[in-house]
Amino acid sequence: MTARVRARFVAAPGSAIPGQEPRVSSGTDPVRSGVGGVTAKKRCPSCCKKKLRTEFHSDRCRKDGLDSRCKACRRAQRQREYAANPEKFRALARNYVPPPEVRKRRSERSSAYNKAHPEKYRVWKQKYDRANRPKKRAAQQRRRAETAYDAEWRRRSKGKIKAAMHRYYERHKPALLKKCKAKNKEGVAKLGGAYVRSLLTAHSPLTAKHIPSEVVELKRAQLKLRRQVKNLWHSQKTSKS
Ligand SMILES: [Zn+2]
Repeated sequence: MTARVRARFVAAPGSAIPGQEPRVSSGTDPVRSGVGGVTAKKRCPSCCKKKLRTEFHSDRCRKDGLDSRCKACRRAQRQREYAANPEKFRALARNYVPPPEVRKRRSERSSAYNKAHPEKYRVWKQKYDRANRPKKRAAQQRRRAETAYDAEWRRRSKGKIKAAMHRYYERHKPALLKKCKAKNKEGVAKLGGAYVRSLLTAHSPLTAKHIPSEVVELKRAQLKLRRQVKNLWHSQKTSKS
């Protein structure tokens, strides 16, 4: 039972002890309980009737936490507005995006449901995929066109891009060289792929892309072995002296 429902039971009309304020538990919704508890009434300026607080929608922007007009008057007003311009409201409903917490809750609920009803989900998914195939294909084509446009732009602007990169290099030369040196040093220490490939392609017409990864692995193992032997030799030399 929620706090709100409990509060209604505690302070139902007529249950208040004479001479005492109607009891409202501390955990109640301030919007619903309001000043004077749930038995307090509020006048609707539209139909000029005094109604219970539950007869008003909540509106947290207002001082008493309630809409000015009662629910019935609000509904009648909305119906009049909709009848005057239905297309406007249809467009609003189409473009409505619920707040993130609502979207999250809904998606969690639906994925739990789908997990519990795998056969139902499979049928629905098939239908959904079939219905959305044209849309998906159009999106794919759009993406492909964008990629092609990018590639074409890069091809046409090759000289420009190269010049811009060169300008950047000239402007940041010391920092870039420092970074490059550090990276090379790291590659040597860790036997990185670029370093091992550079050893294999030195003094040969091959380039790095000609060396398959298995060959790099072999060379790396050899280098490791050599380093270990060298270390052994070094440690013996220091222990003798
Ligand atoms: Zn009213």
